[in-house]
Amino acid sequence: MDLGLRGKRAIVCASSKGLGLGCAEALAEAGVDLVMNARGAEVLESEAARLRDTYGVAVTTVACDLTTPEGQAQVLDAAGAVDILVNNNGGPPPGIWSDWDRDDFIKALDANMLTPIALMKAVLPGMMDRRWGRVVNITSVSVKAPIATLGLSNSARAGLTGYVGGTSRQVAPYGVTINNLLPGLHDTDRIKTTDAAVSKQTGQSLDQVRAEREASIPVGRMGTPQEFGQACAFLCSQHAGFIVGQNILLDGGVTNATL
Ligand code: NAP
Repeated sequence: MDLGLRGKRAIVCASSKGLGLGCAEALAEAGVDLVMNARGAEVLESEAARLRDTYGVAVTTVACDLTTPEGQAQVLDAAGAVDILVNNNGGPPPGIWSDWDRDDFIKALDANMLTPIALMKAVLPGMMDRRWGRVVNITSVSVKAPIATLGLSNSARAGLTGYVGGTSRQVAPYGVTINNLLPGLHDTDRIKTTDAAVSKQTGQSLDQVRAEREASIPVGRMGTPQEFGQACAFLCSQHAGFIVGQNILLDGGVTNATL
């Protein structure tokens, strides 16, 4: 399917690995010029070079911590006028409800709620002026079904979801859509880290932890960054202009709910 995106310009945040990289690659495949970001320059540069070589699109890299105002300014300056913003960031650490104090919540809110809000606030006026724009926020299945050990994530992403619910309806008249993609278990570095934490806690081997996780998913496997990226690219496409303020689960059927 032609997504109608050739020649558009996108910021894809936190995109040297995992789901962010999956989104960057799917957009590159659709002919979108990219601004990619991560803290570590080496992996970022090598993935950017791969996308340039494979898809023939322009890719600018900005190695910085997106959670800082300086990092956000660097990304926005490098990007200029953009048509597409994919918000993503590292997720908060796991723990238990009694561990977390005010500072932990402030860090999680900064990374997973206030950073995407700041970036939306910066790019939405230009998109509205140009009468076209797409924003996709990578949040989590935990927005619909809380994950006990990820209370910081549950909280910050719920806040972002509320903001998107209201804001998406205000920008929709200008041809700008904002939607959230909610990943369930996807095979990325983040999952390897959380698998290692579970293995340490339970004494199970990493293979056992992974097998149990996969058995809990109706499709019988984890999702891939590639299929996640394709869903993101569709939400950014010309065909998705009527999809507004939605929270779309990509979880292989794990969330057992009728709606
Ligand atoms: P990942 O494989 O660990 O990749 C994270 C990416 O973000 C890397 O490119 C990393 O590069 C970059 N990054 C992290 N912190 C950053 C920062 N402060 N500034 C700029 N870039 C930063 O993670 P993932 O699995 O793709 O997860 C992406 C998001 O989806 C996370 O918020 C995660 O909690 C959420 N999520 C994932 C899953 C899943 O199953 N994978 C499920 C639910 C929710 P550097 O380290 O070099 O900065």
